[in-house]
Amino acid sequence: MDRIKMNTIVEMDGDEMTRILWKTIKDELLLPFVELNTEYYDLGLPHRDETDDQVSIDAGEAIKKYHVGVKCATITPNAQRVEEYHLKEMWKSPNGTIRAILDGTVFRTPILVSGVKPAVRSWEKPITIARHAYGDVYKATEFRLTKPGKAELLFTAEDGETKRATIYDFECGGVLQGMYNKDTSIESFARSCFNYALDAKEDLWFSTKDTISKQYDQTFKLIFADIFEKEYKEKFEKAGITYFYTLIDDAVARVIRSKGGYIWACKNYDGDVMSDMVSTAFGSLAMMTSVLVSPDGNYEYEAAHGTVTKHYYRYLEGEKTSTNPIATIFAWSGALRKRGELDGNAPLIEFADKLEKASLAVIESGRMTKDLALMWQGSTPTVLTSDAFISAIREELKSYMK
Ligand code: NAP
Ligand code: MG
Repeated sequence: MDRIKMNTIVEMDGDEMTRILWKTIKDELLLPFVELNTEYYDLGLPHRDETDDQVSIDAGEAIKKYHVGVKCATITPNAQRVEEYHLKEMWKSPNGTIRAILDGTVFRTPILVSGVKPAVRSWEKPITIARHAYGDVYKATEFRLTKPGKAELLFTAEDGETKRATIYDFECGGVLQGMYNKDTSIESFARSCFNYALDAKEDLWFSTKDTISKQYDQTFKLIFADIFEKEYKEKFEKAGITYFYTLIDDAVARVIRSKGGYIWACKNYDGDVMSDMVSTAFGSLAMMTSVLVSPDGNYEYEAAHGTVTKHYYRYLEGEKTSTNPIATIFAWSGALRKRGELDGNAPLIEFADKLEKASLAVIESGRMTKDLALMWQGSTPTVLTSDAFISAIREELKSYMK
């Protein structure tokens, strides 16, 4: 069989159990069918340390050049990891580094299979959470106050003009927080969401608390509305999809009553909380895709879960683990499909579709990893090791590729 040809994508290898799965997925599911054309960056922690983390920056820049990247889960070092890996420094999260270079929004979508029923009975289609990944409470300055006094908000413009307001005259101790966001970041967030909705051909919902936060959240609402009016309204009409703004509490109620099948854009904190709620209610992080989309059209695909450290330690002791490779397989299929779409490479798009279809077909035939078996409703499933599960997907895929 002739292998499918493709243009370059950026491949970012990672750590621990997902690094093991990464290689197996490439060897078993990709290389037999596709002449994989990747620019390889090893973001495994030892190599990040060797390069003083330059490799993470290089990988981010490479995504800007090729527009599509696929990333394996990586360790974000903490004090324990610094010791474990004898690191020169506590390097920053590669995801954070790449996000800063690409300036994007993270979209997370559950992968549905027939035997795992969402906890919310009305949900029939996936709900994608679009999380603004910049600013707000994540970049806030906070004080713990232990005595009475006056708290003020002060802004000094570059030209010397000042704005000042009393926040509260404290008669006792308390807490104080100052947070911010930037027009440029909110604008990129909006464009990423509108572009993603057009790509997915799904409605876009956006929610904030603008009735209470009359300057801060109101600005988010107005920037979205303005960009929609000027740049996207016609495109949405043509695509037959809608943009819909509502208050966050109204959105929550509507989401629970909905059938799914739309994108829900959330501010940073709302997105953090709501994505865990949505992913748990749909099944698990191991069945969740994640893609970072930048406003100028760069795409980075990854799994939503981490490096599955506990399984890796058991793997090192010789155990054949039953770690779920689906999210990592879908990171690859997502990247290959996007490469195909950007280049008009129909065979590559078709391969990505078949790879996903084969993966889900194996699960729906009752063969799966342990995490899914625990949630499975219906006849008793067969629990496979990761290797056996990937082999079964390969057999299924082969039959589609004839
Ligand atoms: P994790 O790797 O997502 O794993 C947490 C637990 O969730 C696992 O112990 C396992 O539960 C279950 N799980 C997650 N993915 C699974 C899969 N594919 N198949 C089966 N079970 C799965 O999170 P963590 O243990 O908190 O973090 C481990 C490392 O990953 C950390 O160093 C962290 O920095 C890194 N991390 C990276 C990313 C990223 O690169 N995007 C994201 C998050 C975390 P059981 O043990 O009960 O089977
Ligand atoms: Mg969170």
